Amino acid sequence: MEQYKTNHQAEEAMIEAAFQEVLDGYLASNHRKKVEIITRAYKFAKEAHKGVRRQSGEPYILHPIAVAKIASQEIGLGSTSICAALLHDVVEDTDYTIEDLEQHFGKKIAQIVAGLTKISGGIFGDKASVQAENFRKLLLTMSEDIRVVLLKMADRLHNMRTLGSMAPNKQYKIAGETLYIYAPLAHRLGLFAIKSELEDLSFKYEHPAAYARIRELIKESEARRTEIYKKFSAPIHQKLRELGLKYEAKARMKTVYSIWNKMEKKQVPFEEIYDIYAMRIIFDCDDPDKEKLTCWNIYSIITDLYRLHPDRTRDWISVPKANGYQALHITVMGPDGNWIEVQIRSRRMDEIAEKGFAAHWKYKIGDGEEESELNVWLRTIKDILDNPEPSAIDFLDTLKLNLFASEIVVFTPKGELLTLPNNSTVLDVAFELHSQLGLHCIAGKVNHKLVPLSHKLKSGDQVEVLTSNSQQPKAEWVNFLATAKAKTRLRAALRKSQQPVIAEGKKIFVEFLQKHSLVATNEVVTKILGMLHLPNREELYLALGGNEVTLNDNIAKQLARQDSQSLLSKIFRRKSSAKKTAEMQEIVEIDTAATYILKHDEHGANFKIADCCCPIPGDEVLGFIDENNEVVVHALDCPRASVLKAGYGSRIVSTQWDVSSGKFLATVHIEGLDRFGILQELTQMISTNMSIDIRKLNIEAQEEVFSCELVVLIEDSQVVTDLCNKINKINGVKRVSRVY
Ligand code: MN
Repeated sequence: MEQYKTNHQAEEAMIEAAFQEVLDGYLASNHRKKVEIITRAYKFAKEAHKGVRRQSGEPYILHPIAVAKIASQEIGLGSTSICAALLHDVVEDTDYTIEDLEQHFGKKIAQIVAGLTKISGGIFGDKASVQAENFRKLLLTMSEDIRVVLLKMADRLHNMRTLGSMAPNKQYKIAGETLYIYAPLAHRLGLFAIKSELEDLSFKYEHPAAYARIRELIKESEARRTEIYKKFSAPIHQKLRELGLKYEAKARMKTVYSIWNKMEKKQVPFEEIYDIYAMRIIFDCDDPDKEKLTCWNIYSIITDLYRLHPDRTRDWISVPKANGYQALHITVMGPDGNWIEVQIRSRRMDEIAEKGFAAHWKYKIGDGEEESELNVWLRTIKDILDNPEPSAIDFLDTLKLNLFASEIVVFTPKGELLTLPNNSTVLDVAFELHSQLGLHCIAGKVNHKLVPLSHKLKSGDQVEVLTSNSQQPKAEWVNFLATAKAKTRLRAALRKSQQPVIAEGKKIFVEFLQKHSLVATNEVVTKILGMLHLPNREELYLALGGNEVTLNDNIAKQLARQDSQSLLSKIFRRKSSAKKTAEMQEIVEIDTAATYILKHDEHGANFKIADCCCPIPGDEVLGFIDENNEVVVHALDCPRASVLKAGYGSRIVSTQWDVSSGKFLATVHIEGLDRFGILQELTQMISTNMSIDIRKLNIEAQEEVFSCELVVLIEDSQVVTDLCNKINKINGVKRVSRVY
């Protein structure tokens, strides 16, 4: 017990000391001194993680404290981030919720913790490498606030620093992830020191033998290198002191990882990597206007002493790298005949380079499109920075991270990530996963809610694809596909499924020509296409094969009538007259004196629905016999029908619906006040209570008003009337009417 007490006390003291270090560092920074909230966050987190220990056996709270310290001292973030860092594992590992945090610490901190919780773990399966790029994007797109990403970095860095106490298989996985994702991301964010450390730590766990060997080689060569460095730097030091410059100079070792990388990539032995170290000179300069001049003064001193490599001078002062990096790099011949790089930069430049301090996030210009988007984002940041605000430190609050605006990233139910273009739909996802899924996709579930194929997705959506074997690809799908892959596959499938139809249509066409002794000249085909309002031969075959149009003798007759002088028509006439008028009699002249019965039989409908008024059975209609001798049905009150009645009285026929007239689409327009739950009530009433087949439901809401376009498949107008009456009774519906 006594032992426990001492241990406990020692531990408490250690925790307090660790937190005090965070506070001390924070107080020494330029940030506003919000000690109270930081202390409160610390106490809250400590209480929440009480009794919990890390893998290493140390109290859990030491981890959030360490993350807070990294965030504050190695990245340069302020109180909001420090609080979020202290609280970052509270929601995930304890019973506290985001709402609790919001109550105690406000919205901003709660949001950041929520972001961190969202992107924590669970995403990686065995396909870490495949998922890496996607995840990196997800990290950026899903993080509304860049602090989420920065804190994630800090969290990862601390986990890497303490990776030794993890089980080896976990070490391997975490190290791999770090190298794939976090180190490059750190680089992009300009966190160079963190990037290098992450790389070295990952390398150490991924390739322990290579790591140990290179470390050994470095150690072996250290004495020699120190010797050379001393010899090389001594005259420089002397001259710099003579100049009266306040500066700091150090030998810069390449990191173990970068040496290994170079050895691997260039296939050179360790000894030949001549720039294992560089000299870095960091000078203090109060006047930003003199920074550049000082750099070139130092350049002048060094090049007086040593021979300059002709084409290895890099002036990133006049033209900073896009990631904000500024420095003057030169390479000179050292005393032992090796080239040595010297990096010259001011204290300010060094800060940017090492910490990627918040105010200087810039991005490395690289390849590909995403870079250009990043650059747009960076310009926005730059604009904010160029406009000096007294509360510049809070500018993070105004920054929204939306780097990959033209892309979205979605999850599959298995946690796989897919990157898709903006406006991608459920159907795109289906095709992305497998073309068979795409071709048989009937609907989707987005975040567990049922949605149609055409539902547009947002980043972070979880998408499940629902399929049915009876589903067939449809031509109109192409209208809501965003990915080229899906479009290509859909078209290929359609063409394939259309092949038999086209073949059948072609057969019908050839038979028709033979029957009327016609030859398929361009002239004949063009005329037929014109009469049937079809764009090309393929469409003609499709329409014929699919029974959408028929080539009746009437068409043959018209071909002849329109061009009675042509040889073709002569042949046609001779032929048909030879057959006497037997075939002519096949044309059933519609008797306009009698009532025409509108019906369906095995050949389809014996009428067409006018697309101006779209009448349905039950509506009062009239028929109009068109040039193809087909009855087009108009609503009695259709304006076009009145015109037809007036102009073509002889072609009007009275009609009557038959019971077997088939099913028809009707469109209903609904308007009302948007109250919570009304739309659900509406759709539920339609689909369950009345078992009506909904084909389309378009809902738009603007402030309190919503309008809804509903397309249903029904037998007759009575159903629509009933439907409208029922909808009208829903509380909130203001107007409901059948549009067609
Ligand atoms: Mn953590």
